[in-house]
Amino acid sequence: MKALQKITHARLPLWSLPASWPQQNGALALADIVFLGHKIDHITPSASFDNTTEWKTAAPSPEAAFCVSAEHVLDVQGALVLPGLLDAHTHIDKTLTLGRIKDVKPGLLNAIQAMMVDRARWSEQDIRSRASKALQWAQAAGVTHLRTHCDWWEPNTTPLAWHVIKDLALEWQSSIKVSRSALIPLTLFKEQESANALAKAVSQSNASKHRASLGGFIHTSNWDPQALKHLFEAAQRFELDLDLHVDEELNPKAQGLQSIAQLVTQMQFKGRVVCGHTCALAQKPQAEGLTILDQVAQSGLTLVTLPVTNLLLQDASPDRTPKLRGMTLVKEARARGIPVLMGSDNVQDPFCAMGSYDPLEAMIIGTPMGQLGQAFDVWSESICQTAWIDSPSDAAQPRVLAPGSTANLVVFKQANTIGFPSQTHPRAVVRDAVLL
Ligand SMILES: [Zn+2]
Repeated sequence: MKALQKITHARLPLWSLPASWPQQNGALALADIVFLGHKIDHITPSASFDNTTEWKTAAPSPEAAFCVSAEHVLDVQGALVLPGLLDAHTHIDKTLTLGRIKDVKPGLLNAIQAMMVDRARWSEQDIRSRASKALQWAQAAGVTHLRTHCDWWEPNTTPLAWHVIKDLALEWQSSIKVSRSALIPLTLFKEQESANALAKAVSQSNASKHRASLGGFIHTSNWDPQALKHLFEAAQRFELDLDLHVDEELNPKAQGLQSIAQLVTQMQFKGRVVCGHTCALAQKPQAEGLTILDQVAQSGLTLVTLPVTNLLLQDASPDRTPKLRGMTLVKEARARGIPVLMGSDNVQDPFCAMGSYDPLEAMIIGTPMGQLGQAFDVWSESICQTAWIDSPSDAAQPRVLAPGSTANLVVFKQANTIGFPSQTHPRAVVRDAVLL
């Protein structure tokens, strides 16, 4: 571990730079990032560096390139640099259970059934040990913010995992900001009274000064517009944010997303509203899908796409190669200024065998899945931009990679802007201005 005062010659993504950022020889100028204590003090264009040769495409010499000088300066010689990573949608309560579950049938609803059977094994020690491993993996990948959903399946009992992960969030707060969202079936919001009781329980068990997050599973199999309204009213009443599983299916008749956009506008909902999945949007007729996205843009929703799990769970059948991909309209959303995040979702549980809590893994699959151009300069924001998931009440926090923000950075030793996110595994992590 080496304390740093400055990183020089960093290639930062276009989305993080001011419009006035200069170009050198037709390419974005590299950046010097100066630290003060454990924060970023200022970022300026590097004085001189020949970045016209694609040095990264030649065999790099990462060890030689990553020596810290006696003046505590790390010259990364044009390497790509991102802020501490955000994993915007995970399930660390369920994670790492697949090895002990036999015979999981394909598809989302079958995975839910398998998970319900496994819950009998969820002791405090079991949850703590699995979730801790998830956080260790995330930390090694350079994650500094992680949102986890926690299954909450009974109206009057707070699940054990909700408490265990609250304790873990406190234990890990110096390295990862762990936030929880209660994942509750929409049916439990059918009665207004029980909706209020659930929102109150979530609010009272909040782990931090930040707003807590209420969640729900919204799907054509349990669709109930009145229950959705109760969910929103309860969240408004108890000043909660919302992070919902929405239309995780390929049924073009799914109505979750447009109903949520309408409710937010009608109620002038105050908190952050995050909608994960929304796969069904891409199956609607083009004009209808775009009209819904216009409403989403107007209502200020954040979308989260989960490429790995939705490639596995959508259009799933044991003996047939899938033809469809479960990705929402990410390009059209971003073109409308809608925040789009990308997350790991399930990791090594009945929903998804793959995963490692490395947001770059989601990007490696999501980039070709969505045929996304400018993966580093545009789309890497989907695994970094914490302002898109934080409470509106946190708006006073400095944005990532801005003066005053915490000096958490990930340096990719071999990746280049052309091939990103390939070759992102060799990386150096800087936390609180210390090279780990
Ligand atoms: Zn999920």
